[in-house]
Amino acid sequence: MYARVIVDINSEQVDRLFTYSVPEDMELMPGERVLVPFGPRRLYGVVLETARETDVAPEKLRPVLSRVDDEPLVLPELLDLARFLSSEYRCTLAAALRLLLPSGMREGARPLTRLSVALVGDADEALARCKRGERQRQLIEFLAGRPEGALLTELPFPGAPAVARALEKKGLARIAPRAVRRRPYEDLPEEGAAVSLSPGQANALERICATLDGEPGAFLLHGVTGSGKTEVYIRAVREALLRGKGAILLVPEIALTPQMVAWFRARFGDVAAVLHSRLSGGERADEWRRIREGRARVVIGARSAVFAPVESLGLLIVDEEHEATYRSQTHPCYDARDVARARCRLQGATLVLGSATPAVETYSRTLAGHNVLLEMPQRVAGRPLPEVTLVDMRKELIAGNRSMCPQALRDAVEETLLAGQQIVLFHNRRGYANFVKCRACGYTVHCPHCDVTMTYHLSDETLRCHYCGASMSAPHTCPACGSPFIRRFGVGTEQVEQKFREIFPRARVLRMDNDTTRGKDDLTRILTAFRRGEAQVLVGTQMVAKGHDFPGVTLVGVIMADMTLNLPDYRSEERTFQLLTQVAGRAGRGETPGRVVIQSYEPEHYAIAMAATQDYRAFYQAEITRRRRRLYPPYALLSRLLVTSRSESDARAEAELLGLEVDAWFRETPERRRKVIQVRAMEAPLSRIRDEFRHQVFVKLYAVGSAEPLQYLSDLARARRAEGVKVDLEVDPVSFL
Ligand code: ADP
Ligand code: ZN
Ligand code: ZN
Repeated sequence: MYARVIVDINSEQVDRLFTYSVPEDMELMPGERVLVPFGPRRLYGVVLETARETDVAPEKLRPVLSRVDDEPLVLPELLDLARFLSSEYRCTLAAALRLLLPSGMREGARPLTRLSVALVGDADEALARCKRGERQRQLIEFLAGRPEGALLTELPFPGAPAVARALEKKGLARIAPRAVRRRPYEDLPEEGAAVSLSPGQANALERICATLDGEPGAFLLHGVTGSGKTEVYIRAVREALLRGKGAILLVPEIALTPQMVAWFRARFGDVAAVLHSRLSGGERADEWRRIREGRARVVIGARSAVFAPVESLGLLIVDEEHEATYRSQTHPCYDARDVARARCRLQGATLVLGSATPAVETYSRTLAGHNVLLEMPQRVAGRPLPEVTLVDMRKELIAGNRSMCPQALRDAVEETLLAGQQIVLFHNRRGYANFVKCRACGYTVHCPHCDVTMTYHLSDETLRCHYCGASMSAPHTCPACGSPFIRRFGVGTEQVEQKFREIFPRARVLRMDNDTTRGKDDLTRILTAFRRGEAQVLVGTQMVAKGHDFPGVTLVGVIMADMTLNLPDYRSEERTFQLLTQVAGRAGRGETPGRVVIQSYEPEHYAIAMAATQDYRAFYQAEITRRRRRLYPPYALLSRLLVTSRSESDARAEAELLGLEVDAWFRETPERRRKVIQVRAMEAPLSRIRDEFRHQVFVKLYAVGSAEPLQYLSDLARARRAEGVKVDLEVDPVSFL
C-alpha cells in the first residue's frame, strides 16, 4: 500500500502530494495524521489518498514512520473541502488543511482517540467475578445498560478509564476505537415554555425543515430587525438534531457574548459546542475534540467555525451574512459564506443565510435563483419598526446651530431619559478629534510610519495612528512652524461622549469602541451593564450596531450618518445603508415602540434616505442599477496585485513593470481582451503602512469568465514572489485602501 501525503509545511515549493510506502502492519485511511521522513527531518502530514500502486521508483520510496491517532483527525468528509479551499483561494493544500485543524491539534501532543469500552459477556457473571472491587462493580453496572459500549471520555467517575483497563485485563471488557452512534432524541433538553412563532417565522421554519428530510436547500432568510430570526435558527437546528444530523450556526464574533453562549447551551445542553476567540488554545482544542468525537453535534461559533469537524452535517446557518467579518483578512483570505456553500454541497447539508440587510451580491444571487428567498417583513409580536426622523445638518448650520446635537435629537434624548428608557448613540469614528492641523501653515500631523493622519485622543492627550498603533503626545504648537494655532478637527466617539455628558450631566453613559474594549472582558462588561440598565446611554462605533437585542432601548441617535459614505470603495453606499438600518433596528425591540434620529449632511442620498425608510428592496434596486451602470460587482470582479516594499521607488517600479506585463497579456488574444475592463498601475490609496510603501496593479474584469485571468494573475504573483518581490493577489478584497 502507498499513502499520498501532504506534509505540514506551508510553502509553495513543496505544495504537492508526496508518496510513502505503508508498512505491512499499518492500516491507513485518508484524513489520518502520520509522521513521515522528509529530507533529514521527520514531519507531521495528513494522508490525502491511499493507493495500491505508484509510479514512484521503489528506491525513492520511504516508509511512513507512524500513525498519530486511532482514526482520521481530519474528517474524511472534509478532505474535498481542503481541495476546494486550495483551488478557490489559491493557497497550498497544507495551508488549507491547517484551516481544518485548530493549531492546538496540529502537533502530535494529544492524539485523537474515540476508544470505547463494552462488556464482553454477561453483566451478572462479571459482577460475580468482581465481588470486592467497588469501582469495578460500579463501572460494570454502568456498562450493563449500554450494550454498544461507552466512550472512555463518557464514563461516570474520574479514574474510570483505568478501571476499564483493569476489567479488560480480566477479560471482562473490551476497549476498542469506535464510531460514536448518537441516539439523537435522548440528549436534547426538553423545549421550555416556548414562544409561539409568528406566521413569518413558522413559514420560514417549515420551508427549511422540509429540506432536512429531502433534497438539501439553500435559503436567504431576509427578516427585518427584530423579526425573530434567531428563534427560527434555533428551532431549525433542533429539527436537524432530532433527525440525527449535525448543525453549525455562524455568528459574528461580537455577537458571541456570554449571555448568548449560556442561552445556547441552555437550549441544547451537552450536545452544543462553542468556538470563540476568548477560548485558550487548549480549550479550543478540547471543544474541537468533542465535536470530532461526535459528542457535540451542534456548533455555534465565529467565522472559522465553518471548518468545525461536524459529521453528517444537516444544516449550516450564517447569521448576519452581510458582515465583512466573514471574510478572513489573513491568507488564505477565505469567505466563510462561500466555504459554507461549498461545504453544504459536499456534505449534502442545507444552507441558510440570514440578514435584515443582505449583501447586494447575496440578494442578486438569490434573485437569480441560487437561494430560495424567505421573507419576514414584520417584527415579532406585532411590534412596529422604529419611526425615523432625518435631520438635515446643512439647514442646522444655516440656522446657526453648530452643535453636533441639534434640537430634534436633544428633545428626543430628554424625553427618553425622563421616561426611564435607554438610548444608543452611534458615531463611526473613535478617538476625540479626527486630526490636528495648523491654522497658520496648514500642516497636518501624519503618522511617521503610515500615510494617514493621526487621531487625537483626549483621555491621555495623545495622537494615535489607527493603522499601526503608533502614538505620541499631542503637540501644543505646530511641529512645522511653531505657531500656537494648532487645532483639532472632526469628531470621534470620545468627544460625542464628552459633549453628551456636558448637555445631560445626570445621565449615566457608557462608551463602546476599540479604545474601551481592549481588555478580554471589556466588551462583555459594557454590554452586560447596559443590558442591566446600569447606564441609560451607550455611545459607540459600529460595534453598537451589530445584532444586539437591548429591549430597553427606545431611541437611537446617529450623530453623522455620512461618515462611511464617501470612502473610495464601491461598497461604501452598501455599508452605509447596512450600518444605518442595523443601528436603527436596535430601537423598539421591547414593549415600547422605538424611534431613530439620523443626522446627515446628505439626507437625500439614496443610501441614507432608504435606510431611514428601512426599505431594503428600494435600496437594492438603486444600488444594483448603479453597479450595472458603473460595472461593479456582481457584474465585474475587482482585484489587484499589491506590491509592498521598504523602498518607495522599488514598489513603484515593480508595480509599473507588472502593470505592463499584465496589460500585454490581456492584449495578446481577442478573447482575453474581451474579459478585461481595466488594468492600471498606481499608488495604493493608502500609500504607506508601517513603513511599507504600497503600489498596486488594479485589475477590473468582467465577472463572467474571470477564472482564467485570475489564474494567470495568481501564477504571475507566485513567480515574482519566488524572485523575492513582495506581491500579493487580492481578489475582491474587503477594502481597496
Ligand atoms: P432579529 O435577529 O431578527 O433581529 P431576534 O431573533 O433577536 O431578532 O429577536 C428579537 C426578539 O424577539 C428577541 O428578544 C426574541 O426573544 C423575541 N422573539 C423571537 N420570536 C418571538 C415570538 N414568536 N414572539 C415573541 N417574541 C419573540
Ligand atoms: Zn504650522
Ligand atoms: Zn501608523
